[in-house]
Amino acid sequence: MSDLTELYQEVILDHNKRPRNFRKIDQPTHFAEGHNPLCGDELSIFLDIQDDKIDDVSFDGQGCAISKASASLMTARLKGKSIEEAREVISEVRKLLIGPEDSKPDLEALGDIAALEGVKKFAIRVKCATLAWHALEAALEGKSTTSTE
Ligand code: ZN
Repeated sequence: MSDLTELYQEVILDHNKRPRNFRKIDQPTHFAEGHNPLCGDELSIFLDIQDDKIDDVSFDGQGCAISKASASLMTARLKGKSIEEAREVISEVRKLLIGPEDSKPDLEALGDIAALEGVKKFAIRVKCATLAWHALEAALEGKSTTSTE
């Protein structure tokens, strides 16, 4: 196992064990629930957006280590960012997790989220990793539920 893989695994384990922003927001401006029936992950994403800026973002629910770590990494990355910046990160995450094969995600824009790269090799795990991001997009579009199916 390479050092980088070990480092990435540590990031995921850490975010699973101590998820960041793992709580509800009382009166979110945006909210969506995401389901991944393949794995049984069920996450809710809460956002408090003021003047196109993500003042607060959090998540709640239950899921496997990958889905929780991905949601935790997402909230840590997007808090305080503008909607435009959030959309850029979403598009880099799509490159990282879904591809195409030769796509080069902007690792600087992704930060710690790049730790999820390894799941790309496991098709079934990709849906765990993308769940929170699908829910985020649904919330931004004003939909309240989404499913990876
Ligand atoms: Zn899962």
